[in-house]
Amino acid sequence: MAPTTAHMGANGAHVADDTMKKQPKPEFSPEDLFKYQDGAAAADFLDSGILGYTYSDFVMLPGHIYFGVENVSTTSRISRNISLSLPLVSSPMDTVTESEMAINMALQGGIGIIHYNNSIREQKREVDRVKRYENGFITDPKTLSPKHTIRDALEIKNRYGFMGIPITESGGMNSKLVGIVTNRDVEFIRDKDTPLSDIMTTELQTATEGCSLELAYTVLKECKKGKLPIVNNAGELVGLVARTDILKNRDFPESSKDKARKRLLSGASIGTRPEDRERLAALVEVGLDVLVLDSSQGDSVFQLDMIRYVKEKYPHLEVVAGNVVTQNQAYHLIKAGADGLRIGMGSGSICTTQEVMACGRAQATAVYRVSKLAKEFNVPCIADGGVSSSGHIIKGLACGASCVMMGSMLAGTEESPGEYFYKDGVRLKKYRGMGSVDAMKKGSSVRYFSEDDRIRVAQGVSGAVADKGSVKRFLPYLRMGVKHGFQDLGVRSIPELHEQVYDGRLRFQVRTPAAQLEGNVHSLFTYEKSTH
Ligand code: GDP
Ligand code: 5GP
Repeated sequence: MAPTTAHMGANGAHVADDTMKKQPKPEFSPEDLFKYQDGAAAADFLDSGILGYTYSDFVMLPGHIYFGVENVSTTSRISRNISLSLPLVSSPMDTVTESEMAINMALQGGIGIIHYNNSIREQKREVDRVKRYENGFITDPKTLSPKHTIRDALEIKNRYGFMGIPITESGGMNSKLVGIVTNRDVEFIRDKDTPLSDIMTTELQTATEGCSLELAYTVLKECKKGKLPIVNNAGELVGLVARTDILKNRDFPESSKDKARKRLLSGASIGTRPEDRERLAALVEVGLDVLVLDSSQGDSVFQLDMIRYVKEKYPHLEVVAGNVVTQNQAYHLIKAGADGLRIGMGSGSICTTQEVMACGRAQATAVYRVSKLAKEFNVPCIADGGVSSSGHIIKGLACGASCVMMGSMLAGTEESPGEYFYKDGVRLKKYRGMGSVDAMKKGSSVRYFSEDDRIRVAQGVSGAVADKGSVKRFLPYLRMGVKHGFQDLGVRSIPELHEQVYDGRLRFQVRTPAAQLEGNVHSLFTYEKSTH
């Protein structure tokens, strides 16, 4: 059996983070590490054409531990060219992902996919919020002219949340910088019609165009100002750097950012109809990084056309296509140009597709079969739905997925849309399928039907989930759960896990119904289960 020293994953992804550099060596030779094979290889049962398995049907057998959890890397890819330090994705559902969820997912190293059960304007605003949350150089800062009023400045504050506004002669970029307006300039002024020329700060600390981000940060630290306008030799404004971003960088070193401008990565979903092209154009305008084509059965001419259209019109944009559960479906989408695949049909917690449409596939088998094919084309896969514990995340990855998408796990957190309410003394938040009657009434029916269907057949339900607190605590808990799981398996990264899955070194075992009962809490009269 091949020794496992390479840090290049089965899908060619490089594990580039520091954790891999100071790796301890195993005490045993590669031959002795895997001398006695127990259990089964993934292929032995997940390649079965007859039986479909789901996460609860199996466990993985432990490997040899020779490293600490701090040596485990969770770096992975969501699509051909985008990597994440945390392989978790929040689902494009209107009770799961809007900007607040997406910002927090990206800060922790994952990514959020903003749903499209809203107007184009609303979805665009949500993506814009994510992209504006954290920056390197802000190349298109909001600016005003000296003639604008405090009211105009407050309007920007209300809309975007920040208030450090450079003032230029014309009120736009590439015009002479004449001042800056911050919270402190306006705090105590009652008359909101006061022109900014009366109150703006005119003694400015600036940096010159071409300076490095490091230098800009050093200047900001030393001068203790909140904003550093960047000007060209003619004194015209060409950019802005914010002190807050130094702190965000420090507090979230693993956050997911675009390479060009160091802004948080944003994802959004759209449908596959021609009219979705207008929506797409609006999202691209504000800097969308990952587009998810949202369809419960992805292998359609609509979707193939849309993939080709997007790849031709916006070649830089990463397209995740789906959903698929078979190799044929996956092959068609990959051939059309998909950069990533989303796997799952009927496995979601709110989903009734398999019951109503008699179509779908058990999730572990679907993830294994599709990922195995996608690997040949270097296309990463997202295991979507059916996740209700950190163990399920590990299992999704062990079936070959590069990332895991979650709905119910993240619904009910402080960052998910909607208000908390109480039922029978329990604090709950609404969680609904995008194919539920409830969500379709708001407009999501296109994902599940043709618009002119008179009789709608729901493929999802509407319900509620318990309060889970903040993802600020929940995601680090999930990350640690995954790391501990990897340590028990004796693998130090997702590429290494995939190598061992495909060459048969990672061993699995199918669980009988009694074994599944045994594997969960049992024989107790009462117990408390706290997750984080
Ligand atoms: P302020 O002091 O009220 O301006 O706000 P902060 O400094 O606390 O927050 C500014 C945050 O918004 C930083 O993370 C910026 O990167 C981000 N941001 C995004 N776009 C803009 C913009 O056009 N102008 C400003 N001032 N900040 C922006
Ligand atoms: P969960 O994480 O709650 O198990 O599943 C979330 C996933 O279920 C979503 O990412 C999406 O793929 C799928 N989904 C969301 N709404 C519906 C629905 O109404 N019907 C079906 N069939 N699937 C849904």
